[in-house]
Amino acid sequence: MENNKNTQLKLNSNGKIFIYRIVVAIVFLISILLVYGLNNLSNSKESMAMQINSNSLNATTTEKTEEKIPSEESQRKLQDWKLMLVNYENEMPKDYVPKLSVLEDDKKFDSRAISGLIKMLEDMQSDGITKIWAQSTYRDPTKQDKLIKESIQEYLEQGKTQEEAETLTARSIGEPYKSEHNLGLAVDFNYVDYSFEDEPAFKWLMKHAQDYGFILRYPEDKEEITKIKYEPWHWRYVGTEYAKEIKEMGVCLEEYIEYLKNN
Ligand SMILES: [Zn+2]
Repeated sequence: MENNKNTQLKLNSNGKIFIYRIVVAIVFLISILLVYGLNNLSNSKESMAMQINSNSLNATTTEKTEEKIPSEESQRKLQDWKLMLVNYENEMPKDYVPKLSVLEDDKKFDSRAISGLIKMLEDMQSDGITKIWAQSTYRDPTKQDKLIKESIQEYLEQGKTQEEAETLTARSIGEPYKSEHNLGLAVDFNYVDYSFEDEPAFKWLMKHAQDYGFILRYPEDKEEITKIKYEPWHWRYVGTEYAKEIKEMGVCLEEYIEYLKNN
């Protein structure tokens, strides 16, 4: 009997240990499953996020690549000499020597564009606008120093002070190879000052210049882009095709070229 009781007790305690072990094993298993499952879940979330990211990256890359390839027509336009961009960050090639024709006296203009300028001046005269002349056209970049001295002298002779003469000269001549005047495609009218804005000639140009291939190169609302202060007197030849398009779009030359690069 004593033996039986002992066996019973032993069994009881063995059974408890057994159950205890099973519970521990189950808890252990559940925790492993939980940890594994959570890990998997977060991994798949992560990889999903990565995929989304890479998708959007791909989308941007494709978009950007598409943006960077201009159409054949835009490429043709971008290579056209008429759209040659010369500004504060685009120096003209030092070996670029345009073929020039004489407008009058020492005033020269690109031979391929001069007929547009002559026709424009003639038609202004026909429309009764007599107070118009080309004050400054082509400038030889290698003779810039001489030009600057001459210009100051000219302004002094017109009765300007030394300071005024220097300011006006700096405004109209500037650094060599960074001026459209060096291309032979730009013209400054009359006194090269803001009084030109009130002249009938200016109003006429604002209405008709694009029909002769000219654009107002430094508009008042584009100073941030051109980095040049508004110049009502400075007009640039780009040819009628582009002049009309630029006028219609209401952009400056920098913006138009950027547009071509993206379309
Ligand atoms: Zn000018």
